[in-house]
Amino acid sequence: MPLKAAIVPVTPFQQNCTLLWDEATKRGAVVDPGGDLPRIMAGIEKTGMTPEKILLTHGHLDHAGGAAELKEKLAGIPIEGPHEADKFLLDGLSAQGLGMGMVGLRNVTPDRWLAEGDTVTVAGATFSVLHCPGHSPGSVVLVNAAQRFALVGDVIFQGSIGRTDFPYGDHAALIEAIKTKLLPLGDDVVFICGHGPVSTIGQERQSNPFIAA
Ligand SMILES: [Zn+2]
Ligand SMILES: [Zn+2]
Repeated sequence: MPLKAAIVPVTPFQQNCTLLWDEATKRGAVVDPGGDLPRIMAGIEKTGMTPEKILLTHGHLDHAGGAAELKEKLAGIPIEGPHEADKFLLDGLSAQGLGMGMVGLRNVTPDRWLAEGDTVTVAGATFSVLHCPGHSPGSVVLVNAAQRFALVGDVIFQGSIGRTDFPYGDHAALIEAIKTKLLPLGDDVVFICGHGPVSTIGQERQSNPFIAA
């Protein structure tokens, strides 16, 4: 049975925290819990799902700022991802938050770092890990080829791509990752991104101004 997905917008950045679960067993995962824990907990209750793990696409505070607190609230379930190259971001969440007037963000150390070629499971469904640096050095994309579905974080959006104007950003690397790793996934692959509406690889191949040929 295909996994179900529900989006809970969190933080002032309207980040798409995503609940993924199997309707039969109710087992699932919380992807990118950036903050606003009461909203995430309400979403979990409404769907009736039981989170077994937390997945992080990258280390930015709107994606990872609530991960440590959520893990604690959910009896210590494991946190998987992102790639270890984002450790410096996860180690600086509290300081970054304070710099933006957000009090109470906690640094987080995942239970498992992810690398290119790894797999993660959600309720028995397998996602392969693509390391797609550029927006952040440790950004990962999670792809469920069987269900034609991907979680792309801030690598690509409907009509746009992740910003790379950070000291550690790399525009060329981001475009390279999109062209060599995401476009080949197939036009029918639907993705949930970190901000804005759901899209498909095909829609972006045709109309995204950053990658359209
Ligand atoms: Zn980001
Ligand atoms: Zn973001």
